Amino acid sequence: MTEYLTRSERMKQPSALDIARAVAEEHGVCVRPLAKERVDLDTGRVDIAPVPCGSTVASVCPTCAEKNRRLRMAQCREGWHLTEEPDFTPDAPSDEQRELTAYRADLVKAFRLALDEGDEVGAEEVRDEVAEVDEELRQLGVRGSLPSLEVPLKAARKRSTRRRQDAPNLPRRPVSKRTIGRVFGGKYQPSTFLTLTLDSYGKVRSDGTPVDPATYNYRRAARDAVHFAALLDRFVQNLRRCVGWEVQYFSTVEPQRRLAPHWHAAVRGSISRAELRAVAEATYHQVWWPAHDEIKYSGDNLPVWDVRAKGFVDPHTRRPCLPGKTRWTRSCDRLTSRGSASKSTPRASSAALRKPAVTSAT
Ligand SMILES: [Zn+2]
Repeated sequence: MTEYLTRSERMKQPSALDIARAVAEEHGVCVRPLAKERVDLDTGRVDIAPVPCGSTVASVCPTCAEKNRRLRMAQCREGWHLTEEPDFTPDAPSDEQRELTAYRADLVKAFRLALDEGDEVGAEEVRDEVAEVDEELRQLGVRGSLPSLEVPLKAARKRSTRRRQDAPNLPRRPVSKRTIGRVFGGKYQPSTFLTLTLDSYGKVRSDGTPVDPATYNYRRAARDAVHFAALLDRFVQNLRRCVGWEVQYFSTVEPQRRLAPHWHAAVRGSISRAELRAVAEATYHQVWWPAHDEIKYSGDNLPVWDVRAKGFVDPHTRRPCLPGKTRWTRSCDRLTSRGSASKSTPRASSAALRKPAVTSAT
């Protein structure tokens, strides 16, 4: 049956996607799941598994956002006032777990042997047995991934201990596995409310528009907005290194009327204003380094991709030319290998101008 509908009638019909969204919402599942490809390393089978998007923004996915909101509420209620660190020490492995694991190791050996001897049927039998053992181990409460039969163990990636990612001029303490801040008077654990606001780009009216568009620093406003996520990430990392414990917080990013993002955080534990200021200032330099406002390559003089260096290099010197983590890491490594920590201060210009304002109340 095809019935003639006018355009306005057609437009009134909900789209299939809208219906799918509404149903997803009604059933409390993610409205925009991500498709993840999962490859079974033993059988080579490829599955497409939907994974919830995990958004914290209600306009993006109301279900995931609500789930996240409730999770955070529970975390806050259960954890904020704890006076002792939760105990995450795993139980000692049981005899049964030990025995099964030893048995599994024997099976893996048998599997390799069968493969070496070209005994495919035998290998297949062992594979099935391993799958059963893995299932049993899971039921016995073993977490973590069990090594695959096929893939040889990858050598652990060695990280350079010389990497220097700390911000200049900040006291650095080893971060201990502790989330509880200082205790005052034997029992008081004050918290900190922190707001990070970006510096002024020029005077604005009450509606947030610049008083003088000719002098308002739009460029810097745009760059700050682009780097804001990195700025916050680094800020927390630097803060933890500065105070020496795993600072925990609940926070939100809000747009100001002038459209600059700013950050409100309820921080567990008490941190001094001086430390917050120092961390904010140093982080701003770090994220802003090197300077962006100098054109180095244009016209025919453009960087070229270098396969071995996995990055863009200078067309003449063949040295990495773009600022980035690799470049930064390399520069830092060079500096530390020379043993001159004092030279690590990046070429930050106009330090005072680029400092975000910190307000805090404890
Ligand atoms: Zn979702």
